[in-house]
Parts: sequence; structure tokens; C-alpha cells
Amino acid sequence: MSQLTIFADDQPLKPEFESSDHDRIRTRLAEAGVRFERWETAGDVQPDDPPPKILRAYSLMATAALLDIEGTIADIAFVKQVLFPYARRALPGFVRTHADDPEVAERLSAAARLAGVPGTDSEAVIQSLLGWIDEDRKATPLKDLQGMIWKSGYADGDFTAHLYPDAHAWLRQAHAQGIPLYVYSSGSIGAQKLYFSYSDFGNILDWFDGFFDTTTGPKNDSASYRDIADTIGQPAERIAFFSDVEAELDAAARAGVITVQVVRPGTQESSRHRRCADFSAIDLEAL
Ligand SMILES: [Mg+2]
Repeated sequence: MSQLTIFADDQPLKPEFESSDHDRIRTRLAEAGVRFERWETAGDVQPDDPPPKILRAYSLMATAALLDIEGTIADIAFVKQVLFPYARRALPGFVRTHADDPEVAERLSAAARLAGVPGTDSEAVIQSLLGWIDEDRKATPLKDLQGMIWKSGYADGDFTAHLYPDAHAWLRQAHAQGIPLYVYSSGSIGAQKLYFSYSDFGNILDWFDGFFDTTTGPKNDSASYRDIADTIGQPAERIAFFSDVEAELDAAARAGVITVQVVRPGTQESSRHRRCADFSAIDLEAL
């Protein structure tokens, strides 16, 4: 509880203002140029808790982690050198053999509309999809189809999803500590779930509390991070976002999110965000 009592200089025993109402306190202090804020605690604090525990609960530390995948917890080369080439090789055959599957058919019509080709011309749709893969165009129907192709590849054991050992160890520990973990990747949510179901370290899908993709918004738009914070139900200032890409970190920082650049081999270093080479020294409570 907060209480403000103000005495006049010449009346030390008779308060001229007394209140425990936060709005009244804020207004009165503002008149004197003093800012009054109330902070949410991270976890429960009791009146008889030791001071260090109370201070820690009120410190501005991260209580949830939001993670990029490619280039951050996983080698960016895995997606480029394994996943995408696999989908490109498998796509024509997959489309031809699954064109009557309603889920596939729906994506093919959407792709045809987007490409401006007749939906009945499946070869033209295939060519458009392959073209999008080559230009790294993040079209939703393409991403959905790639997700379906990868699903069969994972299930067949054609590959497992790369995770850096330091990221895996950190995720395991963070999960064990009860830290909420979220993913924000340009890969579809379906593809993200597959990734963690078939990682190099086995199925770790249930370590995560939620997944976000570009249906929430672009990764370099600060509104996306505000939406994510709302969905997570945590103040943006308590969420730590880990990414290798400066523009994404800039957007997150504009939304008030704590930002950490993970500088993997080949990452373009940013001078505007705190940086780490891997997750081995990351302590959320110290961010
Ligand atoms: Mg990345």
C-alpha cells in the first residue's frame, strides 16, 4: 500500500493532504514534478518476505521468452540446405498425387488465385509455387504446402530438425524452471510444431506455451509484438525476444520488449541490442 501525507512548512502536526488513493497521489505528486508509478510484481510477494526477494520481484526482469528459430536457436543453414531443397524436390510429385485431398486442393486454388493462373492448370500452379520458393516469397498457400511436405519427410525419418545444443540445453532448463516459452517465426505454426516434434533431440514440442507466425503480423512491425504480448498476457517489458535479425529486434524494442541478439556464425551484428554468442550464459532474471 502507498500513502502520501503532506504537511505545510508552518504546520508540522496538521497534514494538508493525506491519501492512499493512487490516482490522487499521482495527481498531487505530478504537481510537484514527481512521477508516481505502480509496478506489477513478477510472482507473489508477501509483506514479511525478505527485502532482496521483494526487490527482485519488482525489478524489470523478463518472465517469458519469445524465440526466433532460424539463425537463433537453430542453424539457418538447416532450413536453407535441408528443408527448402527437400520441399522443392518433393513439391511437384506431392501436388500431383494429393491434388484431390481437400486440404491440398484448398491451398492450390489459393495459390492459383495469387499467381493469376487457372486453378485447373495444376502444372502452372506447380511452376508458380516453385518460382516462389526460388524467390523466397513467403506466400501463405506455399508455406502450408511446404508444411505438409515436411510433415511426411519428418514422419518418414528423412531428416530431423536442427537445434543448437546450447539452445536445447537452455530451453530444457527454462522449461523445467516454469518459464513460459513462445516461438515467433516466419515459418507457419504448423511447420514450427513439426520442427519441435522432430528435432535433433527428439520431441520437445510440449516445452512451448505458444506459437506465433506471420498471421500475427510481420516480424519487423512493432504492432506484432504488442499483439503477441496481449495474447501471452504479459507486459511487453517482461518478455525477452531472441533473434538474429536486427530489424526484428528493432521492432520488438519499439513495442517495449526486451531484446537480445543471438550472434551465430554469419549473423550481421547489431550495436543497438544486447548480444550473446549462444544461450549458455543467458539468465532471464538478469536481462
Ligand atoms: Mg532468424
